Amino acid sequence: MPSLNAIWMNGRIIAYREATLHVSSSALHFGPTAFEGIRCYAEAERGGNLFRLREHIQRLQASCAAVHLRLPFSDSELMAACSEIVRSNGHWDGYIRPVVFPRSGALGFGRNGGQAAEVYVLSFPWENAPLEKSQRRGIRVHISSVIRTEAHPLVSKSKISANYAAGLLAICEAHNAGCDEAFLLDRHGAVAEASTANVFGVWGNRLRTPPSSLPILNGITRDALLTLAIGMGLHATEESFEMQELAQADEVFICGTTCEVTPVREINGQKVGKGVPGPITVSLLRALHAAIRGEGIDRGWTNRVEVTS
Ligand code: PMP
Repeated sequence: MPSLNAIWMNGRIIAYREATLHVSSSALHFGPTAFEGIRCYAEAERGGNLFRLREHIQRLQASCAAVHLRLPFSDSELMAACSEIVRSNGHWDGYIRPVVFPRSGALGFGRNGGQAAEVYVLSFPWENAPLEKSQRRGIRVHISSVIRTEAHPLVSKSKISANYAAGLLAICEAHNAGCDEAFLLDRHGAVAEASTANVFGVWGNRLRTPPSSLPILNGITRDALLTLAIGMGLHATEESFEMQELAQADEVFICGTTCEVTPVREINGQKVGKGVPGPITVSLLRALHAAIRGEGIDRGWTNRVEVTS
């Protein structure tokens, strides 16, 4: 019987209640914490596929390097840790959260003394109903007054806690406006990204997503969709656009590990296209689901986790 409350901590499995952090940890005060979010999809009875695990771990390594966190585990050790926690907790349909932060103890700004960082890997059961509902109906987006800022190109490309201030403000603003999501612009007025997802617009059979030269997280789902779209014979490019142009798009969707492909049905109260999920959005979601199941071309995107008896 798998335990439902295990956490991987610095190379060993501990109980949920043992994973505590001292209040003086600089991770809590300054946010130099690197993390990832990875989905495991159940396959057959007891087993699952981790989607693009290698790319998530590579991005975690890059995020740690950007904020001077010394990550004392290799890619393959961290990939094994993700599989191990899924197996321990039985979260075949799960969300995996590796998190790396400075060793707790001393409160000091930028004074980590070159120590190895703390590394935890958590997993949570995945509840699919809310996502399915958003994918069926489409979501309502608010254009945020919050600018997606760029502290430093390297840092703004990293998945670190300190980057999430703008997204957090934007999503609160969106919820107060009765919307589900926010679009953040860059300081020149180009559409950058959603609070925790990337953005695509569809004009005819042309797809565009903001380029990685903008202050966005280079989403792993975004990358997968660019590959899948081109494979489907669509014209997909990384090219910037402003809000006025996006408002004229036939289809708009957001993408990310937790929202997969989620159609946008309304932006600031204005219908997108016909106000229902468009055909290209729907076919890309289908293609993504097929890739997650490991169907079609083998791109090495899935890592199987199985029960060990
Ligand atoms: N942008 C931000 C700010 C995010 O937090 C995420 C979620 N990781 C994304 C984009 C989408 O990235 P991915 O497809 O790698 O989950």
